[in-house]
Amino acid sequence: METKTLLKIANAYESPIYVYDAHKIETQYKRLTAAFNKVKQIKINYAVKALSNISVLKFIKSLGAGLDTVSIQEVKLGLTAGFTPKDIIFTPNGVAFEEIETAAKLGVQINIDNLDILEQFGSKYPKIPVCIRINPHVMAGGNTNISVGHIDSKFGISIHQIPHILRIVDNTAMTINGIHMHTGSDILDIDVFLYASEILFDTAKHFSDLEFIDFGSGFKVPYKTGDIATNIEEFGDKLTKRFKIFCKNYGKELTLAFEPGKFLVSEAGYFLARVNAIKQTTSTVFAQVDSGFNHFIRPMLYGAQHEITNISNPNGKQRFYSVVGYICETDTFANNKRINEITEGDILAFRNAGAYCFTMSSNYNSRYRPAEVLWYKDKAHLIRKRETFEDLLANQIEISL
Ligand SMILES: *Cc1c(COP(=O)(O)O)cnc(C)c1O
Repeated sequence: METKTLLKIANAYESPIYVYDAHKIETQYKRLTAAFNKVKQIKINYAVKALSNISVLKFIKSLGAGLDTVSIQEVKLGLTAGFTPKDIIFTPNGVAFEEIETAAKLGVQINIDNLDILEQFGSKYPKIPVCIRINPHVMAGGNTNISVGHIDSKFGISIHQIPHILRIVDNTAMTINGIHMHTGSDILDIDVFLYASEILFDTAKHFSDLEFIDFGSGFKVPYKTGDIATNIEEFGDKLTKRFKIFCKNYGKELTLAFEPGKFLVSEAGYFLARVNAIKQTTSTVFAQVDSGFNHFIRPMLYGAQHEITNISNPNGKQRFYSVVGYICETDTFANNKRINEITEGDILAFRNAGAYCFTMSSNYNSRYRPAEVLWYKDKAHLIRKRETFEDLLANQIEISL
């Protein structure tokens, strides 16, 4: 998006604010589907937890995507946004059995990642087909917070437990209609993904009623200059070839499914915050913005590096700043960054703020969660109001003392 446009939005709707470029989401969606255009049936299920605003979900629906959900609330958001139950897959981990039952009754595709739950579900609902989430034990990326396929992970049913899965399926006469994996968020190497896919194919052979194979996500997008992004086109080419061979041997055209979150929405998002104060210390110059990890936690939680630009002074000379927030706790967005000269009142734009940013925001320090704007068809649409003092108190109960 253009700097001018972002600045106008910040001035019109105030800061801090999240802005999402619908066009960029569409471009990413088309890039992914184009990479797999030789597969007969491809299904992209957008991972709601990345960015769950109802208007964003509706926009993503208009592109033809389905949804990947991890809570019954996300399922309900999807249904409210107009998705049909069959376009929603529910992939919970560690939720109560009742929550899975509720989702099944709503008619969404269930994805089970626990042998105990599989047995309970199969015994009670043998007629409802389910997908199985496998843990292929492939280590993706280096950060264990975002690697969910390794040996100690709580996600998925281990590939070493396939005999037990088969026994449960046999005992309960349930139907397995899909095989799934989601190995983690940062796959740098296509070969690692393809290696995990081989394990998935090996697993899939054991089940005769499959309709789809879901490869989860793992697409990496660049955050800072020099970052490697997944080469989608090369990946599409290689996996398509392999998938076709599998379908031929399996004797049926299956649907190839993915569930990207970050890939679709990360780069579409901008977080805009205003500089409250410039503070010089013995070692650095701090630019302090009207936000903190209450609004934008990825830099502190994951060490994520989001590019920061001063959109109020895009051509100013560059100086070094440490960008921090206003929370009474360490809340460093970036250390020692070259940014165009900042004066009080300037608006800073944080890039890649579409995925796991607003959805992780909180009211810490009793601050309001930011507003959200969708830039759609060359117009700014407010899609979430900034919270107010009433919102802070909405669910609190004042007892008489
Ligand atoms: C979070 C999640 C995704 C999306 O991951 P991204 O890295 O955002 O693409 C996909 N599938 C499942 C099961 C998830 O939990």
